[in-house]
Amino acid sequence: MASSTASQPGTPATDEPVAQVGAAWPGGEERRAFSVLRPRRARPAEAARVTRAEINLALVRHNLRELEACLRADADVHGRAPARIWAVLKADGYGHGAPNVATTLQHAGVDGVCVALLEEGIELRDAGVSCPVLVMGGYYGRFRDGVEALLEHRLTPVVYESSQIESIAAAARHMKLPAGTPRTPGGRVTVHLKVDTGMGRLGATEAQLDEACAALSSNPELIMDGLMSHLACADAEDLETTHEQLRRMSDMLERVRRAGFAPTMRHAANSAAMLRSPAAHLDMVRPGIALFGVHPCPTASGGAARAANLKPVMRVLSEVVALRDVPKGSAIGYGHDWRASRPSRIATIPMGYADGLSRALSNKGEVLIGGQRVPIVGTVSMDLTMVDVTDLPSVSVKDEVVVLGEQRGRLGQDAITAEEIAAKIGTISWECLTSVSRRVPRFYRQP
Ligand SMILES: *Cc1c(COP(=O)(O)O)cnc(C)c1O
Repeated sequence: MASSTASQPGTPATDEPVAQVGAAWPGGEERRAFSVLRPRRARPAEAARVTRAEINLALVRHNLRELEACLRADADVHGRAPARIWAVLKADGYGHGAPNVATTLQHAGVDGVCVALLEEGIELRDAGVSCPVLVMGGYYGRFRDGVEALLEHRLTPVVYESSQIESIAAAARHMKLPAGTPRTPGGRVTVHLKVDTGMGRLGATEAQLDEACAALSSNPELIMDGLMSHLACADAEDLETTHEQLRRMSDMLERVRRAGFAPTMRHAANSAAMLRSPAAHLDMVRPGIALFGVHPCPTASGGAARAANLKPVMRVLSEVVALRDVPKGSAIGYGHDWRASRPSRIATIPMGYADGLSRALSNKGEVLIGGQRVPIVGTVSMDLTMVDVTDLPSVSVKDEVVVLGEQRGRLGQDAITAEEIAAKIGTISWECLTSVSRRVPRFYRQP
């Protein structure tokens, strides 16, 4: 059955060549128009609405310094050079706006950045980011234009199978690469080889490693500058799985070396592994969430976890737009899911689930007004959410509301963290941050 599928007329064109390997590539004028879908977001200048996210770039720098200090402390103990940091800025910089965060980190001296998508890498280059950009997803489109765009924008591809290696090498052979393309003096394109050590997601498995190495050997346009893997359980209390994955990675590194390669950048650590397991630092680390000031595993022990003083970079703010006094027994919102058990004062906030305020917070979540917590009442709707301010009689229309982050107000001081919201609705802080939708304009402070 398997052997005949490729020739069946109705088979989807999955075997359409990514690149016509070995064939001459047509010149620029013959190329299919290639347009990249970029993340879109509202811009502050266009915003009439009061709901907004405030991104404090000074705190991005602060978190980078904290992580550098952790790496230095560990390097001193072990008498080696500190691992380099390549910041993970996929998904629009975890919702913070990748171009602004990347530019900030680059000025602060970060060694490189990582994204998931080709499109995300191109967006950073268009924003003037010049440091190495690693495209981790390993997917460069079904047509050669994607591979050409990758090289034109001097992005560093992650590879794990021979078809990727061959299409990138073919592009390198037939394209005039721009100045500054990551190449060795021999003129080769640098790639990072990804190996699967237990995540079961992407990367050459132990069984596929020889084939990937053979493809790299027979395509000398490429040089394996990095060897990477991804850890599945770095935030678990027990780090045994992490250490097992690192052992497998080191075995695979041995095989890669025997095949004649000498990757200078070995990397595996996300934020949790970076903070908890010095053995995972290797030559470089790939923190994402920690740079945004959110601890990946606040309760887990180990390593420098407790030492890092991370500060949340994003605050999500809105305002009270309406106030009403309702008698005991009256219902609020869709489905009349909440009824006043006493005469109540209800404030309406112009932020809903389409903005990233999860509907799972209906009758469950809290927001801050004047530095005090007030409960969300009724069902969170698409654009609006109601809160019970009966206990805060001084609240008035136009008062600031904090949905995520810290607030100091006339009534006190408090903070709602991504970890707290995630725990309440059964998700993780990563999802809370990336859910703040493009409808919410980002305002940047302290650039
Ligand atoms: C997202 C991601 C990271 C960063 O993870 P954090 O937990 O946010 O630090 C690192 N490596 C890979 C491959 C990733 O996909």
